[in-house]
Amino acid sequence: MDNLWTDGDAKAAIAHHAAKGIGEDLALRVYTTRLLGGEPRLVLHGGGNTSVKTTAVDITGHQVEVLCVKGSGWDMGTIEAPGLPAVRLAPLGELKGLQALSDEDMVNVQRCNLLDSKSPNPSVETLLHAFLPHKFIDHTHSNAVLSLTDQPDGEALARDVFGKRAALVPYVMPGFALAKRTDEIAAAHPDVEGLILLKHGIFSMGATAEEAYVRMIDLVTLAEKRLAKETRRIFPGATLPKEIAGAAEVAPILRGLMSLPAKSGGREAAQRFVFEFRTGPEILAFVGGKEVARYSQQGPVTPDHAIRTKGTPLIVPAPAAGKLDAFSKDAKTALDGYVAAYHAYFARHNAKQMPAKKELDPIPRVVLVPGLGLFGLGNTSKDAKIAADLAETTVAVIADAERLGTYECIPEPDIFDIEYWSLEQAKLSAAAEKPLARRIVVVTGGGSGIGAATAAAFAREGAEVAVLDRDVSNVKGLGIACDVTDPASVRSAFDKVAATYGGVDIVVSNAGAAWQGKIGEVEEAVLRQSFELNFWAHQSVAQNAVRIMKAQAIGGCLLFNASKQAVNPGADFGPYGLPKAATLFLSRQYALDYGADGIRSNAVNADRIRTGLLNDDMIAQRSKARGLSEADYMGGNLLGLEVTADDVAQAFVSLAKATKTTGAVITVDGGNIAAALR
Ligand code: ZN
Repeated sequence: MDNLWTDGDAKAAIAHHAAKGIGEDLALRVYTTRLLGGEPRLVLHGGGNTSVKTTAVDITGHQVEVLCVKGSGWDMGTIEAPGLPAVRLAPLGELKGLQALSDEDMVNVQRCNLLDSKSPNPSVETLLHAFLPHKFIDHTHSNAVLSLTDQPDGEALARDVFGKRAALVPYVMPGFALAKRTDEIAAAHPDVEGLILLKHGIFSMGATAEEAYVRMIDLVTLAEKRLAKETRRIFPGATLPKEIAGAAEVAPILRGLMSLPAKSGGREAAQRFVFEFRTGPEILAFVGGKEVARYSQQGPVTPDHAIRTKGTPLIVPAPAAGKLDAFSKDAKTALDGYVAAYHAYFARHNAKQMPAKKELDPIPRVVLVPGLGLFGLGNTSKDAKIAADLAETTVAVIADAERLGTYECIPEPDIFDIEYWSLEQAKLSAAAEKPLARRIVVVTGGGSGIGAATAAAFAREGAEVAVLDRDVSNVKGLGIACDVTDPASVRSAFDKVAATYGGVDIVVSNAGAAWQGKIGEVEEAVLRQSFELNFWAHQSVAQNAVRIMKAQAIGGCLLFNASKQAVNPGADFGPYGLPKAATLFLSRQYALDYGADGIRSNAVNADRIRTGLLNDDMIAQRSKARGLSEADYMGGNLLGLEVTADDVAQAFVSLAKATKTTGAVITVDGGNIAAALR
């Protein structure tokens, strides 16, 4: 592994922090923490921490000895000085005399000794850093160290590779007990450069930031060199179907199976997940291996993965192309087995817990699909990505471990202790979700106007939003370039959404444009063109939505942007109003035909919104023609209020939440009796 330290960068970090009144110790601590955090083979999603012992001035002006240690919630790759909160060192050192200390008491005493009460919680490995005498301490979950020590004879291998340069620490759960044990072992080996925590990770120590960092790189390189000697062929392949179905077809089936039903009944799922798909040669070799049920089911490569990914992934059968019904059935059997095994695992270990733990949901967070790849699952797309990242690292670590010997991780009771850590259980009850969290929303024409306002409104409600538009250059989240009048383009856009997030829950079919002409004289081509966009595109979008929703079998919600024209025709607006009227009827037809599948279909009937369809020039022209001010023209309704794109967006959001409403039209026009529905 390359040593990325440069004197120039170190000096720049010191100067940068000095300008903010931050001393050299903390400046260099930030610098090398970022070097470690930027390397995914060392640190992934909070799996590591660093510290420096230095002095700080407290409110009375006294110099106090402090430990600046990584705070929870900060990413090492992008950390800044506030991410390494200062804790008074002396009170932490006194804890060494205790026989035991609960996690809650440990967190409390750490928080009580912060210099700044607004700081994040210091790392759960704070006491380990505090007890060791070294000025700079670095901790990572290096892939190479894990591959080497996640072995039945990992201890002997580590002794052989690191010799006198590192002391070995047997597995102990992070917290007070590990801090005490590590301190005893380090005290017995005062000259070591690092500590190898078997089946967990590695610590390196130094008098300077550079020394601790370089020792980390050197020790990890020793492990890498040892692993590179192994050339054994691993993961001999199982027999797989010749043709494998794509992720876009497989994901919605799995997503539907892995949704937990609502207690109130019906097809609406109470809990659903967002998916993240990964594949590539290494992943395919891993998931397609004959022995995948052995090496993938041992447990996490380092304990803290268990919090994100549970102990084991689910393995489903290979999905043969064109045989998705059979796949769905077999995948359900596999999932049922996983769920039963999870309940048994919980019961087995919970029996020994005081107080008893609260069982987490039994749904896997990683799914291995032979022939295809793997999926990470999460409550948000961010969480799903983290689960997938950890799964990819797991593949890499187990591959190296198997090349060397046989992969073996910490035993099941230790996995349970991490997964059901009291500190983690406390976080669960605290988390409040937004109303549309875990929902996957597609908005057509979402690049501007009502569509953009709608996409933003759904994102504010916690949903994952995909925007389909001709121009998606201004879209912040997932933007997919799509011509909604081209059925192939619509199909591929929906497949991309399903492959990206795992499925589709809510579709806002919004894209439209206004064509004008006196109906008896208008060119047929104009009318047909309008029908393409204002009717056929809605049909194509709805058809694709229903295709994916039916594969998920957890209901769904279709929302159409119908215009006031659909109900109350305006003079010379026949080419616009006619297809919109058909689309309003289309919305009701979907409500009728798919109600039994739990798919709802509703429309919004809006009027006179300042958007691309009704731009400022048109507003100026029309208000002038009617002898009105612009404000009077735009507010020419019963309430005398201008209707905005966000008002329409809020109507779509309301309909998405109205789980017992289908076949409805909501009017958002400030009041227009001629366009009111009977
Ligand atoms: Zn760790």
